[in-house]
Amino acid sequence: MREFLSKEAAALSPYTPGEQPLDRQYVKLNTNESPFPPSPNVLAALTEDEFRKLNLYSDPTCRGLVNAVAARYGVAPESVIAGNGSDEILAFAFRAFCGTGIGVAYADITYSFYQAQTALFGLDATVVPLRGDFSLCVDDYMNFPGTVFLANPNAPTGMAIPVSDITRLLDANPDRVVVVDEAYVDFGGETCAPLTARYNNLLVVQTFSKSRSLAGGRIGFGIGAAGLIAALNRVKYSFNPYNVNRLSLLAGAAAMEDEDYFRSCTKVIQENRAWTTDALRNIGFTVLPSKANFVFAKSDRLSGGEVYRGLKARGVLVRWFDAPRLRDWLRISIGSREQMQILVDRLGELLEGV
Ligand SMILES: *Cc1c(COP(=O)(O)O)cnc(C)c1O
Repeated sequence: MREFLSKEAAALSPYTPGEQPLDRQYVKLNTNESPFPPSPNVLAALTEDEFRKLNLYSDPTCRGLVNAVAARYGVAPESVIAGNGSDEILAFAFRAFCGTGIGVAYADITYSFYQAQTALFGLDATVVPLRGDFSLCVDDYMNFPGTVFLANPNAPTGMAIPVSDITRLLDANPDRVVVVDEAYVDFGGETCAPLTARYNNLLVVQTFSKSRSLAGGRIGFGIGAAGLIAALNRVKYSFNPYNVNRLSLLAGAAAMEDEDYFRSCTKVIQENRAWTTDALRNIGFTVLPSKANFVFAKSDRLSGGEVYRGLKARGVLVRWFDAPRLRDWLRISIGSREQMQILVDRLGELLEGV
């Protein structure tokens, strides 16, 4: 097969999604999904009548969903683009804002999709190490002339930087685009969305996959100045004009409009995160301060691989990255209280007698 591959495709290291094994029922804490079902309004929106309309293309402008996002964030519809997951919005941004003469900078420890996109599009990458304590210091990006991608809160650390740091970065160079990936912002972080009114070089990217319980619906969005959104639409209409399917357009709008459900789910996750952090620290784990729906934690007695394998054998899946700087650590999604209790019980068994 290899001889059919283009040079560019051969050079890729594709993004590796978290495992979704089918061999048994796991307590699944490895892909940062929500443990809760979507808002009941989502179910109500997906009527039989809407299924019957699947013979028709979806609205390429994603009007209903875009309007719901615009209303929620207090921006104009021209400042919003919807995507097939926020990964698609990120991909559009890599295509629209990076290329010949415009490189890209991102952290050494961050969402690995950025590295995959950089390889896919053959971009020049500057990889900026996080500090020793895993903090991201925006001063490290001040003089970079190309497009900057930041996850805030970052993954897999869960650590957030204040919006004031991002404004410093935007002020430092108004001629480059800064993309802030806010996949986890709803769990205690601070969104940059309002800043898009002031900075025409800021693109904020968010997803329905985590805080809105719609990972399987594949819905994301970008918020930015109308000029940035128009640039993303140039790419979208060259790649996949009907990028969000009819059912997901409806599901997304219904989820966005159910603010009460959103608030109650994200509140429970934050409570469970605090509970889990305490419980892990009590059994000897170091846990980074997280503003996300996961924690990044390290045992004082077992290696990351040992914890990962021991938990998997006991029916609990967490994410382990066998990579420099990361292999002692585990990224553990925050689920329901019952799921977190099972995690802590299984860890207790694993540590017994070590
Ligand atoms: C989960 C995640 C996304 C996107 O997920 P989609 O399901 O494609 O919306 C984007 N960025 C980060 C940092 C993520 O963890």
